[in-house]
Amino acid sequence: MIRAVDLHVHLPLKEWLDGSMGPYREGAARYFRSEVHERSVDELAVDFAQEQLFGILLAWDAQTATARPPLSNDFVSAIVKRHPKRFAFFASVDPWKPNAVAELERAVKELGAKGAKFHPSMQDFYPSDERHFKLWEKASELKIPCLFHTGTSGIGAGQPGGQGIKLDPARPIHLDIVAARFPELPIIAAHFGWPWHLELIAMALHKTNIYIELSGWSPRYYPQELVREMGGRLQDRTLFGSDYPFIKPARVLEELDALALKPEAKVKILRENASRLLKLELR
Ligand SMILES: [Zn+2]
Repeated sequence: MIRAVDLHVHLPLKEWLDGSMGPYREGAARYFRSEVHERSVDELAVDFAQEQLFGILLAWDAQTATARPPLSNDFVSAIVKRHPKRFAFFASVDPWKPNAVAELERAVKELGAKGAKFHPSMQDFYPSDERHFKLWEKASELKIPCLFHTGTSGIGAGQPGGQGIKLDPARPIHLDIVAARFPELPIIAAHFGWPWHLELIAMALHKTNIYIELSGWSPRYYPQELVREMGGRLQDRTLFGSDYPFIKPARVLEELDALALKPEAKVKILRENASRLLKLELR
């Protein structure tokens, strides 16, 4: 029995931590006040099995903006093939690479990606920039959701110039135009967009293809407006996520209990909404 789908899992491997993250790794760990331990894929699968979790693993390609090596779609899909009952994955494509649209299609059709993850701050692009609309058109055609990092960023936090990372591209409002132009495209805003969470809540109440994802936060710090809406009007469009390895899902699940959500809302947020949206067959 799976009790929750964790929609936001970064791989605790050297390839991501020292490769894709590299100079951003230490600052991010400090921001989350967590010790980031490297784990093998098989250890991660055991950890998730013990917690009765199904994890969505995230590929990563911000090569143009950061000059760091990607965690490729092929690499992550091979991990999913090894543990198909425990994990699925979201593809990453670098919006600045000329093959971005073709790679998105390949990742979904050939590698089995369930969605795609974008990071407007780390990839340094605006989702509302028409030059990237062909990506949203393709995702819409492939009938997959797109997950966007929104709000502030642990990466670069507490550093001079935020290590060159800009927050504005990750404002939720830049997704409003995308949601309006592509009504069939499910758009998931990660980290509930803080400090622009009110903006995001308004967007989600206005447009039914906008979803709110909870990762990167300890539930005890959730803003009050979020807690009210996720237990009420937005209970069908709120999704659980941890932001592993910075935050452990077991801790988030434990603290979520303290919010005293109605049992039916909780089940939707933890499992049912993700299962429906990603067409998962959870066992
Ligand atoms: Zn993340």
